[in-house]
Amino acid sequence: MTLRLYDTAAREIRDFDPVVPGKASLYLCGATVQAPPHIGHIRSGVSFDILRRWLTASGYEVTFCRNVTDIDDKIIRTAQETGVPWWAVAEQNQRAFTRAYNVLGCLPPDVEPRATGHVPEMIVLMRRLIEAGHAYAAGGDVYFDVSSQPDYGCLSGQRLEHMRPAGDTEGADAKRDPRDFALWKGHKPGEPSWETPWGPGRPGWHLECSAMATKYLGPTFDIHGGGLDLVFPHHENERAQSTAAGDGFARYWMHNGLVGIAGEKMSKSLGNSLLVDAMVTEVRPAELAADPAAIGPATDLAAIPVPFAAALDDDLGVPLALAVVHGAVHAGNAALAAGDSSGSAKHLTEVRAMLGVLGLDPLAEPWSAGGGSEGLREVISALVTVALDQRQAAKARKDYETADKIRDRLADAGITLEDTPRGTRWELGR
Ligand SMILES: [Zn+2]
Repeated sequence: MTLRLYDTAAREIRDFDPVVPGKASLYLCGATVQAPPHIGHIRSGVSFDILRRWLTASGYEVTFCRNVTDIDDKIIRTAQETGVPWWAVAEQNQRAFTRAYNVLGCLPPDVEPRATGHVPEMIVLMRRLIEAGHAYAAGGDVYFDVSSQPDYGCLSGQRLEHMRPAGDTEGADAKRDPRDFALWKGHKPGEPSWETPWGPGRPGWHLECSAMATKYLGPTFDIHGGGLDLVFPHHENERAQSTAAGDGFARYWMHNGLVGIAGEKMSKSLGNSLLVDAMVTEVRPAELAADPAAIGPATDLAAIPVPFAAALDDDLGVPLALAVVHGAVHAGNAALAAGDSSGSAKHLTEVRAMLGVLGLDPLAEPWSAGGGSEGLREVISALVTVALDQRQAAKARKDYETADKIRDRLADAGITLEDTPRGTRWELGR
């Protein structure tokens, strides 16, 4: 079955047809590291981790780029209020985000570029836009001329005449049109700045993603993702500036839903956010990551039941895929109760393969043992050692039936034993 994905730009589910056969390039708008993450911030990380894992499990060679916005108004404000350098605020919060991604089992991206490390690429993009008549320098800022792009608004389905002014700079007087958005923000006293041919300043949010996505994935790439709240203005503006510069940019736009509490979007400013660090002290990280409405390498595709694969191929139908997991768990328990060890082992293999795709395999994922994957391996190692000691003791008293039972029960749990002249070796298989 062909992988089909809902494309926000086309407003329909489309067959996934990558730029390069067998490869998939994926850009996800990552964290703006202005505060520690709440679970709403990590939602897109979990969702697109499943997409990335499923693409990999389906045989694609995936390149996954997730950026870090390490300069913005709030980072600067926090630095000014606390006396901590802006870069230290960003660094501390980026570490908190990395911890949260790890504890929820999100695989690290292939590249995690930071905005402030890509100013030269942004200058090149601004120069291309200015030379093509799509951008202009004014009042120390550089703006994108929205009226120069006839299809501006097409991603979010809006018409230019219905749009309100872009409130992204204070010096809006300098704009030719109040709806023009800032590519670059001119320097203000007390703020960090970088030199450009149009004066010192700092990056606009939209510009940085276009510069980083095309640097790592090429002028045309497969999938651009983010939360639904990024469709406008952020993704609309990314698309406008990149296509205006002549790049093909993203071929599919995917957006995950937002985490809400009592019908409201979760956000720090609304005071209803739940920090990931706090949440994982109350619920198991696997439960947090297993939000069915959200979207994992996977894994031997041959062990995955067909209905599970069909559910994920159909625009990542995670709820239906979870139902298949539950069915296999139920069948495995029934086989176990009936003493059918080969049946239970088969279902265990299926369940682990499916959970691997969802980033939820309790024996493979770093969230599963509190202390990370190393901690989990230590726990398993200790438990297997106890079982091997019991098996050795049974053999010593010639109780081979019990010894075999211990070996079989370990096999049911995915642990295979090999007796060698120097003792018993064990291995955690699937
Ligand atoms: Zn972005």
